[in-house]
Amino acid sequence: MDMKLNYIAGQWQESSNAMANINPSDTSDIIGQYAHADKNQTEQAIKAARQAFSNWSKTGIQQRSELLDRIGQIILDRRQALGELLSREEGKTLPEGIGEATRAGQIFKFFAGEVLHMTGDLLPSTRPGLEVSITRDPIGVVGLITPWNFPIAIPAWKIAPALAYGNCVVFKPAELVPGSAHALAEIIVEAGIPEGVFNLVMGTGSEVGATIVDHPDIDAISFTGSVNTGKRIATNSISRMAKFQLEMGGKNPLIILDDADLDIAVDCAIQGAFFSTGQRCTASSRLIVTKGIHNRFVDAVEEKLSTLVIDHALKSGTHIGPVVDQRQLDQDIKYIDIGQSEGAKLVCGGELVKRDTNGFYLTPALFTDTSNDMRINREEIFGPVASVIAVDNYEQALQVANDTEFGLSAGIVTTSLKYASDFKRNIEAGMAMVNVPTAGVDYHVPFGGRKGSSYGSREQGQYAREFYTTVKTAYTLA
Ligand code: ADP
Repeated sequence: MDMKLNYIAGQWQESSNAMANINPSDTSDIIGQYAHADKNQTEQAIKAARQAFSNWSKTGIQQRSELLDRIGQIILDRRQALGELLSREEGKTLPEGIGEATRAGQIFKFFAGEVLHMTGDLLPSTRPGLEVSITRDPIGVVGLITPWNFPIAIPAWKIAPALAYGNCVVFKPAELVPGSAHALAEIIVEAGIPEGVFNLVMGTGSEVGATIVDHPDIDAISFTGSVNTGKRIATNSISRMAKFQLEMGGKNPLIILDDADLDIAVDCAIQGAFFSTGQRCTASSRLIVTKGIHNRFVDAVEEKLSTLVIDHALKSGTHIGPVVDQRQLDQDIKYIDIGQSEGAKLVCGGELVKRDTNGFYLTPALFTDTSNDMRINREEIFGPVASVIAVDNYEQALQVANDTEFGLSAGIVTTSLKYASDFKRNIEAGMAMVNVPTAGVDYHVPFGGRKGSSYGSREQGQYAREFYTTVKTAYTLA
């Protein structure tokens, strides 16, 4: 089988190591062998990016806009094939895979427009005869480190603004999903990226990732992944004063009040907690339900779950694909055991099931009779596992929702304007959802959280420029 190569300094480069990309819906299906870069190759990529920066940062906005637009268009033209590859390597369903590929194309198109909207300020000075301008410069060489759960959208929402604002990129995708990253790199190359401006270095976090984070020529790091890795990146970046931005975990609450529309409540819960196999940092893992609707809600969720098809991600009719790999499956099962040993009641799911192909199939698990201090309600599981927490009223629901170390996304299902408004004001989260699932966001507005979920400025939309540029204040004696 051909090895898929890294793209370094304008060349597709071989490596002595490669790793098999395995389909989690069918472990006998090897998608390809993907080269693993080593430290030396990662350093070459960083050096190439540094050398390219001087010219790239001075390119005109027209050139950058056209390049981003071409990349976006090729992605959109190939969304079907990209979606299939994505679903095959990650395990989300084909409609979700195609949807994610489409999103990646839209993001590049959005930033193709954003480049043309760069603004600055020209101000009078407090000192006579002087004039002050405020403009933005690119930051330099950025290291982009991404997770496996959104194999093309997250790379797109980091790479597109990085290039748009004139930075050079060293991109390291997650080990489990090199296929989408490689396909995206091929498109970026095909669209005509100049040598060294964009580099793909597939490989391990401990070697490639750590080399990027610690390298003096990396000016900024944008990371999405686990809390532990995020903390390590923060410590290492601070020690050399590099700029960084982290998106990490969540333990997102969805409040359901007595006055909720039950269909909307069930839909938000199932979509938010279990679709994409629960493997989203915005997944609703804590369903906080007031007592008047509790039993009706639990029965309706259970009934709906029993109709969902858990099967091969590429099969039509599948609602939920497999867990991404054995390690994640072990973690999910560990937490299902922990929940039961803590006294929570497993109402349904949490079973390993066999399908025609050998994959990591787990039925969606719903716990009731849980309290917010249980480990299943405090620690991120990242699987198709959700807990119901019964509460007396809205005030208690809000208090429980905020009682967490995370703060990414949070939702409420209610028909009360009063509670919806209070929730938007007082929920301690970066994203607040009213009668919509906690997962599922637009690409033209900021994405990010607070507390232990995120660090640094927001990603996506116009807000992305805070991270990918640095402000310059210039004084001129006129
Ligand atoms: P997960 O446990 O979900 O895989 P990680 O935080 O380990 O989450 O992975 C997210 C990304 O961070 C991946 O691309 C991974 O390779 C990378 N990574 C892991 N360890 C390090 C590290 N020490 N330094 C830099 N990047 C890392």
